[in-house]
Amino acid sequence: ALTERLNAVFKRLSGRGRLSERDVDEALREVRLALLEADVNFRVVKGFIERVRSRATGAEVLEGLAPAHQVVRIVRDELTALLGGKAQALVLDPPWPAVVVMVGLQGSGKTTAAAKLGYFIHKRHGRRVLLVAADLQRPAAIEQLRILSQQAGCGFFSAGHGLSAPDVARAGVACADKEGYEVVVVDTAGRQHVDEELMEEARRIVEASRARQVLLVVDAMTGQDAVNVARAFAERVGVHGVVLTKLDGDARGGAALSVREVTGAPILFAGTGERLEGLEPFYPDRMAGRILGMGDVLSLIERAEQAVRADEARSVLRKIREDSFGLDDFLDQLRQVRRMGPLDQLLSMIPGLGQAKALKGLNVDEKELNRVEAIIQSMTPSERRNPAIIDGSRRRRIAAGSGTRVQDVNRLLRQYEEARRMMRLVTQRGGAALPPSGLP
Ligand code: GDP
Ligand code: MG
Repeated sequence: ALTERLNAVFKRLSGRGRLSERDVDEALREVRLALLEADVNFRVVKGFIERVRSRATGAEVLEGLAPAHQVVRIVRDELTALLGGKAQALVLDPPWPAVVVMVGLQGSGKTTAAAKLGYFIHKRHGRRVLLVAADLQRPAAIEQLRILSQQAGCGFFSAGHGLSAPDVARAGVACADKEGYEVVVVDTAGRQHVDEELMEEARRIVEASRARQVLLVVDAMTGQDAVNVARAFAERVGVHGVVLTKLDGDARGGAALSVREVTGAPILFAGTGERLEGLEPFYPDRMAGRILGMGDVLSLIERAEQAVRADEARSVLRKIREDSFGLDDFLDQLRQVRRMGPLDQLLSMIPGLGQAKALKGLNVDEKELNRVEAIIQSMTPSERRNPAIIDGSRRRRIAAGSGTRVQDVNRLLRQYEEARRMMRLVTQRGGAALPPSGLP
């Protein structure tokens, strides 16, 4: 909604050739409302609007020479600054073990983020990571972390009855030290609301574990509440960095825009799904672009590059251009997509493609992939190259041959068409970031 409102403002501006101070004022009033409506902290909004106004009515625009997109650029720059400016990485150095403590409210995604972070550090940096279960409020939390730690390829530590959470954290670090783990990630308990007890426990865990990094986990969906939480943790416990979770949902953006300014700590990671792979470094400029509706093409490209070798990508692009992208290629794509993460998530990053409905249900898990493979293998080479010839009787034959139902074949063909359409669009756009619609 924030994105749509901002787009409407800029669209109106773009109708004018030159901007007067009044145009700028009017636009900024709208931007201000859009931000407040998105639940951005009002003090943050006030400062933001003042900065944009002083730049937009200063030397850059005052002569009335500035086209509308200059205002967009200023808003974009200031949004980027608000989100922290340059991307910052989590730095963990020897001496080992380096301890990271996750704090935040219940349900914010701490346990998930702890496991994702362990997975990330292990996978990216090859470090041995121990996950420590210091959430003693809910017995299920310990089991949740134990299971996640196995999936993440991390060690796991929990302690039996009688120990307090800070004691568990201390014992976990001692265990890591003894067993040669390089990084320790401590999961802690949350409450529904900020309270004295929660803060005190978090503080004592940080102290007992001699945490190098305290990461505040904030649910991006919670808007204004999240800001109060962030402030309380920053003041009472001390926060080195923020993990913003659930950015895959339709977060209003309010928390993202306020949390950096309110805590003074950089947003280090974005949580983008329930899976272990759903954790990405946070890029302020890309997030700003996303909020402005420019689509996060850069993130998309980067993720794609991790999974697809450049020559594979080139050959796919060529095939799309030549319109010879067939079902065999589609199967290859599905295999690659599987390495990249859920397809609908990738789609939502491409401007204008949020509505590629047929692809929404396409969860590329192993079973689905096997079925797709069976169906495609039951096709003749010419059917694979030119799926347009697959009529009703061919569909029945293919279904019978692959041990699937005609609906399965239909669905696959629909998904293939949708994927082809999508890739053609991306190719036409050349992968460059787009200005908001309606702007020069
Ligand atoms: P905790 O109480 O702070 O430890 O929160 P959990 O880690 O148990 O997460 C609460 C719920 O949010 C779980 O259902 C998670 O699967 C979900 N969750 C966590 N992070 C994300 C995320 O980045 N995206 C989505 N969609 N769900 C998430
Ligand atoms: Mg938890």
